[in-house]
Parts: sequence; C-alpha cells; structure tokens
Amino acid sequence: MIEFILKESFNSNGCPICYIIDRQMKDFMFWFEREGYHEYSSIKALFKHSCICERHKKQILNLKDKLNNTFELLIEMEEKEIKELMEARSPKRKVKEIEKNCRFCMEEKRIEEHAIETFVNSKELAEDYLSSHSLLCKKHTFFILENSDKKEFTQKILKKALHNLDIVHKKIGLYFNKIDYQSKEKPTKDELNAYLEAFKFFSSL
Ligand SMILES: [Zn+2]
Ligand SMILES: [Zn+2]
Repeated sequence: MIEFILKESFNSNGCPICYIIDRQMKDFMFWFEREGYHEYSSIKALFKHSCICERHKKQILNLKDKLNNTFELLIEMEEKEIKELMEARSPKRKVKEIEKNCRFCMEEKRIEEHAIETFVNSKELAEDYLSSHSLLCKKHTFFILENSDKKEFTQKILKKALHNLDIVHKKIGLYFNKIDYQSKEKPTKDELNAYLEAFKFFSSL
C-alpha cells in the first residue's frame, strides 16, 4: 500500500514523504471521525496522547459537535486519571509517566517513519524517485540520509536536491536582473514565482 502511494507521489513535483503523510492523515481523520467516537480502543489510544497540539487543534475542531461523542468517553478516562493523581503519594513522579504528546502528531510520525523505511529499503522506489520530477523537502532529505547506509544512493539524493536548487537559484537571479530599472524585460511568471519552488524544499507539511 505505502509503496503504491509513494509511486503515485512521484507524479507530483512535491516531496513524496510529505505527500504520503498528507494522504494517510486524511484517511486517519476520516476514520477518526467515523470510528473515533464511542469506539473504546480508538478513544483509549487518543487518551494516551491527548494533548492536542496547536496545528491539529484546527483540524479537529472542524468536526464540531461530533466531538461531543469523542469527549464523552475521553472525559471519563481523564477524570479517573486526575483522581488517581490526587490520591497519589507523589503526583510529581506519577505525572512524569503521563504522555503529553499529540495523538495526531504521533500518527504523523508513525506514517513518516514507515514511509522513510520503505523508501530507503527499495531499490525500485529509489530509482523511480531519482528519475521523477518530485523532490524531497529538506527535512525528509536529511531523514533519508540519517536512515540509509547506501552512500551511492544518498549521493544521488543530494545531487538531485542540488540540481533543483540550482535551477531555482538561477531563476531568482533572472528575477533580480529583470526587476532592475535598466532592464527592458519583465520577469516571467516562472521567475516571479521562483520563491514558491524554493519554499517547497524548505517547508515540510
Ligand atoms: Zn517532506
Ligand atoms: Zn499534533
């Protein structure tokens, strides 16, 4: 499944790993909405990492009153935990054992790790990526480097990044030449939007 989505991502010109996270998080949210409430195991997983981060807060709040279903069970679990903390001999020690991560960030991390592992272990995927128009973002370029022992492969990954950055660099150069008051030409749309191509490399999700 993940190989299939990775192959599909090579048709876009963005980062394959960001693409897969985006696709699989949409599926995760779809199931969170449908099964997430009143489904004990899902709520239990949410309770384990229930400090919802700022970024995911916006997405989750889109579910509006459907969240009442989620919170009904979640609050029951939370109340139990708070009571246990109140009764604990050392709440300070006990609270250290409580996870303060965001469930949705954890899921993103799981998808990311799985995608990277699949990517670095498949010669076929690596070759497809190298001959495609897609480009790994900076974060995922370095994650791939951290997770691969194949020097030849990592060299090719870096070469591709460098090649793409060089193209954008030249476009930005042309943009500045053309906005000079002495220039007779105006920047093309491509040159005007060169920053967007650069942005893709520097921003992950
Ligand atoms: Zn990425
Ligand atoms: Zn989050």
